[in-house]
Amino acid sequence: MAAKKQIVELIALQCTECKRRNYSTSKNRKTMQEKLELSKYCKWCKKHTPHKETKIK
Ligand SMILES: [Zn+2]
Repeated sequence: MAAKKQIVELIALQCTECKRRNYSTSKNRKTMQEKLELSKYCKWCKKHTPHKETKIK
């Protein structure tokens, strides 16, 4: 296997209200240094809430 540097990092988006992980996505570590925070629909809260990036592992 070719040893490529892993630039794209898998992350999960966690609802800041109920703390559930509703979405998973990836980000490029070279172009996005800061923490992601997106407004996403949470099916548990039944509304749009801020979702923060968390590590998947
Ligand atoms: Zn929620």
